Amino acid sequence: MSHSTHTNIVWLRNDLRLDDNPALSAAQSLGHPVQLVYYVHNQLWKRHSWGPTKIDFVKRTIQALSARALEYNLPLAIISVDSTKDLADDLAERCNNLHTKSVYFNREYPLDERTRDAYITNHLKKFGISSESFDDRMCIAPEKIKTGSDGVYKVFTPFKRCWYRHLAESGGVAKSRCVTQPSTISSSAIVTPIHDIEDHFSIFKQQDLSKLWPAGEKEAKHRLNDFCQDNLLKYDQMRDIPSESATSGLSPYLAVGSLSARQCLLAVLASLGHSAEDQLMQGGLSQPGASCWVSELIWREYYQYLMFHFSDLSKSRPFKLDTQWLPWRTGEAADRDFEAWCSGNTGFPIIDAAMRQLHDTGWMHNRLRMVTAMFLTKHLLINWRRGEAYFSEKLIDLDFSSNNGGWQWSASTGCDAVPYFRIFNPVAQGQRFDTEGKFIIRYFPELLKLSKKQRHDPQSQAGYPAPIVNLKAGRERALAAFKELNNNPVA
Ligand SMILES: Cc1cc2nc3c(=O)[nH]c(=O)nc-3n(C[C@H](O)[C@H](O)[C@H](O)COP(=O)(O)OP(=O)(O)OC[C@H]3O[C@@H](n4cnc5c(N)ncnc54)[C@H](O)[C@@H]3O)c2cc1C
Repeated sequence: MSHSTHTNIVWLRNDLRLDDNPALSAAQSLGHPVQLVYYVHNQLWKRHSWGPTKIDFVKRTIQALSARALEYNLPLAIISVDSTKDLADDLAERCNNLHTKSVYFNREYPLDERTRDAYITNHLKKFGISSESFDDRMCIAPEKIKTGSDGVYKVFTPFKRCWYRHLAESGGVAKSRCVTQPSTISSSAIVTPIHDIEDHFSIFKQQDLSKLWPAGEKEAKHRLNDFCQDNLLKYDQMRDIPSESATSGLSPYLAVGSLSARQCLLAVLASLGHSAEDQLMQGGLSQPGASCWVSELIWREYYQYLMFHFSDLSKSRPFKLDTQWLPWRTGEAADRDFEAWCSGNTGFPIIDAAMRQLHDTGWMHNRLRMVTAMFLTKHLLINWRRGEAYFSEKLIDLDFSSNNGGWQWSASTGCDAVPYFRIFNPVAQGQRFDTEGKFIIRYFPELLKLSKKQRHDPQSQAGYPAPIVNLKAGRERALAAFKELNNNPVA
């Protein structure tokens, strides 16, 4: 068969970009025409609790991608499927129509996605079609990072050291960058017109946050550059202050893959100058702000890594097995407390303002994610899975691995999690990280009339609801529950 009659298919998933896309770049490398496909997978999205803001953001990202793909002569077909079987059948049929010999995609590490990919790979094999997969979601493939005894890192810091070592061995970030070329379009290519993309999403509830979160690669790069210019160098000092826009706000773009972690690292290196890449490869940057930001990107990698190596995490199991016996509260009172937490009516302004930030913007500041998650799981002793599911439904940047990792960290059930006895006091956290109360006043201007100290602990003043829990009693209840586990370890 001649080159011109055989088209390579690139199956896009959470890698919705043309630049620095390993699967796409490999599919183009032999000069064949390329067909991009994206499946709107109704069942899987429901099972993974994707909420209206995330779904709307994915839709807008695809619209932006589709317009850009046409400039490169890369046809993008959007297909709606109800099940993995439908997806497999559709993909095989497309391969047949386009005389495709190989389907290219970037790997995803949670269990459902790996099971899906194994099924599709086997199905395509029956028709003589190969599947070519690439590592994109992590800069270093999860199998490569091993302890000296060939094990998996259960502590972040040695993982990070090993991650840097592998980065150096692979020749650095710049070396692994992938370039996308304009393509030749095959006569049998299928393009879903941009105005039809909307139809594929019409069955989903959507919350339009396009003004706050414009979608697409261009916007992601723009934000990345602005962040590197304005905030990177002071990130270590400012990142915990929720009233400041001092973090990158890139998580929604990284989650859908309109930006890669490699692109983030390259932007850091570009802004720091030529010696930075050597420093990175020798185990970290000397500039504290940049070093701290890169460390957060590595936390993201770590949670993907754990999800890959411990598939039980994908089944809602805690990493620390004994914590599955924690006596989480259930029943009417617990439901009432959970409701108050969800709706931002706990009587603790930092918690309530954080939950309102989540509802209004689809995003929550990292410090506040930790504070709200810890309050729910410790002071209210409510199962972390309920909080994880609620965040899944609301977050525009939902990433299964990071969300699960963040919840299990806060609940002290996870790998390298916060020790159970280090319980953040929400009043003290508010006073420390929102000293003037600038953040809480954005949502509760009525607190302005109180003194700076009282703003975080209004105790029914200024018309603010009364606290739903006594912090001291809640803390003691949580400590007792965890201590009980330690007294009765699982055999
Ligand atoms: C309970 C809980 C739930 C979370 N759920 C998610 C989620 O669904 N999706 C998600 O992307 N992040 C999640 N995080 C991590 C973190 O809160 C967000 O990544 C961060 O707030 C995003 O803001 P930013 O882009 O401005 O981050 P920056 O501070 O600018 O950091 C840059 C990037 O590094 C990554 N990152 C930063 N902090 C973390 C972290 N602690 N863990 C993993 N990756 C990190 C993100 O990709 C982020 O975009 C969660 C944290 C907690 C405690």
